[in-house]
Amino acid sequence: MKIKCPMCKKTTTWEENPNRPFCSERCKLLDLGKWVFEEYKIPGEKAEEEKEEEKDSD
Ligand SMILES: [Zn+2]
Repeated sequence: MKIKCPMCKKTTTWEENPNRPFCSERCKLLDLGKWVFEEYKIPGEKAEEEKEEEKDSD
């Protein structure tokens, strides 16, 4: 059975593949690192508010 590595999209085999579903250990680690990196990311809140134009009323 042939699969595509979700990391690099390279075609690899499912059987006898210790790093499945990845093609290599590198891709496996890259994917792992990706998730670790995501966890470190702090969602930034938008502090800037839309400023309303002040119109002079006569
Ligand atoms: Zn790969």
